Amino acid sequence: MSVNFSLEGKIAFVTGASYGIGFAIASGMAKAGAKIVFNDIKQELVDKGIAAYKEAGIDATGYVCDVTDEDAVNATVEKITKEVGPIDILVNNAGIIKRIPMCEMTAAEFRQVIDVDLNAPFIVSKAVIPSMIERGHGKIINICSMMSELGRETVSAYAAAKGGLKMLTRNICSEYGKYNIQCNGIGPGYIETPQTAPLRERQADGSRHPFDAFIVAKTPAERWLQPEELAGPAVFLASEASNAVNGHILYVDGGILAYIGKQPQ
Ligand code: NAD
Repeated sequence: MSVNFSLEGKIAFVTGASYGIGFAIASGMAKAGAKIVFNDIKQELVDKGIAAYKEAGIDATGYVCDVTDEDAVNATVEKITKEVGPIDILVNNAGIIKRIPMCEMTAAEFRQVIDVDLNAPFIVSKAVIPSMIERGHGKIINICSMMSELGRETVSAYAAAKGGLKMLTRNICSEYGKYNIQCNGIGPGYIETPQTAPLRERQADGSRHPFDAFIVAKTPAERWLQPEELAGPAVFLASEASNAVNGHILYVDGGILAYIGKQPQ
């Protein structure tokens, strides 16, 4: 029996993949042979994504679509199916974070994070699963977080959403595993992207941002991770090599969840 990591002939739809983690995952999948389709919330972002894929030598098709809008998602999935082909691999990557202490957060702000980070993966998965069932295979990868396991000050909505996304992952596996659909999650550690840039800003005196110093001390690798480091795990979970892996969250965190942290000197 050969081990098959190839995505040749597969169509991968990665949400919110104009830049950052989504772009890195989609680029890795393209190198493994997949045809890439992505969406983003604004035309400018889709144009920026198309240009970035082109520069990387990747032929990607982009659509404007808000993943929280069920009608727009259904119409986009229909369009992708007609214009590119049926979706074999879905990566629910689009996400937002609001760093606000819980008692200062409005219910509307809390709902907005839940809407993008949890309701949207439900909406997009629901739009692709029937065709995966019909065709007898499908891969869904939900981009979770270490906040799927851990709490932290200021991220109540994000942790609630990503914890929920972990359980949605297990439930999609439970409900649709019998149709040869595998739904797994990737839990990135601290990744250098625009989303986390404010946490790495140098202080006025040139020293590390306290959060930056905290992350470096908490990570056995003693560094932030690069978005490209998520591509290998994503290709594995999208390929036939992982057909027996289902409902699993693969933490790609440089070892943070295994480590109690640096002991005081
Ligand atoms: P990012 O903010 O840089 O990119 C997210 C993308 O989603 C953007 O292109 C954005 O425009 C898009 N998006 C947001 N709302 C949308 C909507 N309603 N409809 C369509 N597109 C929408 O984020 P990133 O750092 O690349 O993170 C990608 C994923 O990884 C997110 O789910 C995030 O929560 C998760 N994550 C990131 C880190 C990290 O360290 N950066 C760590 C753990 C998990």
